[in-house]
Amino acid sequence: MTDIHPDLTDTEWSFETTAVQTGIPRGLGQTVGVPIHQAAAFQFTTLEEAQDEFARNQGLSYARLQNPTVRALEERLTALEGGAATVALSSGQAATLTAILSVCRAGDHVASTASLFGGSAGLLNNILPLMGISATLTDNTPDAIESVMQPNTRLVWAETIGNPAGDLPDLSALAEVAHAHGALLGIDNTWGGVGYLCRPLDFGADIVAHSLTKWAGGHGSVMGGSVTVGTRHDLTRNPIYTDGGENSVLSQRGAAALAWRQRWLGAHQMGMTLGPQNAFLLAQGLETLALRLARESETALALAEWLEAQPQVGRVSYPGLPSSPWYALAQKYLHGGFGAVLTFEVPDPAAFLSRLQVIRIAPNLGDTRTLVVHPWTTTHGRLPEAARRAAGVTPQTIRMSVGLESLEDLQADLAQAL
Ligand SMILES: *Cc1c(COP(=O)(O)O)cnc(C)c1O
Repeated sequence: MTDIHPDLTDTEWSFETTAVQTGIPRGLGQTVGVPIHQAAAFQFTTLEEAQDEFARNQGLSYARLQNPTVRALEERLTALEGGAATVALSSGQAATLTAILSVCRAGDHVASTASLFGGSAGLLNNILPLMGISATLTDNTPDAIESVMQPNTRLVWAETIGNPAGDLPDLSALAEVAHAHGALLGIDNTWGGVGYLCRPLDFGADIVAHSLTKWAGGHGSVMGGSVTVGTRHDLTRNPIYTDGGENSVLSQRGAAALAWRQRWLGAHQMGMTLGPQNAFLLAQGLETLALRLARESETALALAEWLEAQPQVGRVSYPGLPSSPWYALAQKYLHGGFGAVLTFEVPDPAAFLSRLQVIRIAPNLGDTRTLVVHPWTTTHGRLPEAARRAAGVTPQTIRMSVGLESLEDLQADLAQAL
């Protein structure tokens, strides 16, 4: 076990203060907000400086690797998640792929859950096998994950809140299972709101990934993703890091090995780099995330309670409802709200959707506007029927990401559409 940058983790600032203050230097003439550095390359004044930077890749040279605007966003994400380091990338998919490849190579295995974002399931089922990496998707309980662990399992991968079922894994128990097998626990914390609702690193996770496209950006206007590593993780049983003895990645990079490899893979080598304009929008989005997600969670809970009382509505799933099988885990792992997403069943989804006048049909989450989809035929439509049902999707299911409209207007729209 290694402690890296412990100074970053014991900030006494709240989420709200961190979100608006981190990543902006103080000083005469400095911008008050995050400035946009619209530049592909950065200068050296001597050959020695250039050689040093190319050897270490720690500073600024070429924007595929690092850009000051992207770095400001990364500092903010690291602080909000209580981690050691972050690499920001061009999308959530780029982040998931980078997180997995940072600890897996040909011949390795990932243990994951069936209750996953469709694109993540696609990576595990379709893309990783192209590289000789296998994955098993099972229930998100610690027992189910334990039963699929193999000697070559390097990563356990799950989501803070499953999409769209609203199911929560027991994070601490999953961390124990992963670590007992010498694997790491990676959590897609997109639905955890970049640490606002949940900080998986505090519960034993080693890696958190995000689609910043959702609540971080928060306005449905920009794509992005990120991978943050925690301050403690054990790589001594992963040959990617230990092969080569004194020349191994672990010997060479020490406690920063995992963060180094993620930037090297995702940005430097694969080029899934985030642009400075998008980094600016995402950093700005983070500044209001707490306000938005608190309000959206409040409205989502009120709508879930109201929907549960409507005779035309079938099963309502929301982790903040006492009727949810995940209510106890939600009490343990979430704070500040239960999130902005709920699902409910209506008898005739096509008719229901066509009658909506405020709520829009669109496949995004975390927008300021309330958005709905029919997962059975859209977001999860390419999965086999059994996999769709395992993810909590039926032909009647509607998934709703609650925005910032008033509760009264949303409730009235749902009432007339029902
Ligand atoms: C949207 C989403 C992703 C993928 O992110 P993109 O930014 O669309 O690439 C991954 N995980 C979860 C939970 C998501 O909701």
